[in-house]
Amino acid sequence: MENYLQKVVEDKRSYIDKGTLPEYIPELQKARKDALGVSIVTIEGDTHHAGDYKYSFTIQSISKVISLMLALKDKGESYVFSRVGMEPTGDPFNSMVKLETVRPSKPFNPMINAGAIAVSSMIEGNSGEEKIKKLLDFFRKITHNPELEINEDVYLSEKRTGDRNRAMAYFMKDVGVITEDIEDSLDVYFRQCSIEVTTKDIAYIGAFLANNGVDIITGERVMEERFVKIAKTFMVTCGMYNGSGEFAINVGFPAKSGVGGGIMAAVPGKMGIGVVGPSLDEKGNSIAGLEILKDLSKNLDLSIF
Ligand code: GLU
Repeated sequence: MENYLQKVVEDKRSYIDKGTLPEYIPELQKARKDALGVSIVTIEGDTHHAGDYKYSFTIQSISKVISLMLALKDKGESYVFSRVGMEPTGDPFNSMVKLETVRPSKPFNPMINAGAIAVSSMIEGNSGEEKIKKLLDFFRKITHNPELEINEDVYLSEKRTGDRNRAMAYFMKDVGVITEDIEDSLDVYFRQCSIEVTTKDIAYIGAFLANNGVDIITGERVMEERFVKIAKTFMVTCGMYNGSGEFAINVGFPAKSGVGGGIMAAVPGKMGIGVVGPSLDEKGNSIAGLEILKDLSKNLDLSIF
């Protein structure tokens, strides 16, 4: 397996030059554009790595899958989905156009920024700090990495430049989708996006989802199966931004990407996969990371369809 993974990483390096680093979060410009790595964690607990799997990057939108499950646990399905929809948009992840034009006004799904900000505001806690601590503790548990931390520079960079997210959040408060303090809710969201991980960490998250919310090492049920199913379904329909349809056809398993260059995938009943490649395509997905997943899907026969 290691030899195969090594070969795939080397084969796909040529795609790196075709992509770019995101400009709208200045700190992400410091990423290593040429990094490319992959990790696999099977639900039996076997691990395989290749390339730059020790490279650290921020989790970004991949965190939306976890905050959704925590909000569902805290508030229940009917509360969450009365405020956030279940449909893909076909629009870019940071688009605000449908927020006002579609009535009743609610974000289309929890994977676009507007929906994810609303979802993070629903996590129970007496303060923003308490909510982010709860999120971080949960990430540490499911990654089996007690050392996970927030990258303060990326967090501050997002906070300083996140005017579009801020605008959407205030709009959502106006129409009653968010009831909590806006700056506190944005802080939780910016911090959760700034958690620093490696491909191994996100492959563990994928394995936890692939195993329906039961920890693959301890056997403990960490999340209700229903909420894990909902999360995986959103990964299929909206996980790769407005490239989710093409991804379902060419790769065919639940996955979530982030603008830090990571992609977390869950192959149901089999394995979690983490890839990193900070060079992004025009939709915000890791350009070489996508190619690695295409190869894995084909050669290991992983499509669920
Ligand atoms: N923190 C990023 C933002 O809010 C997350 C976007 C992403 O990874 O898609 O714009």
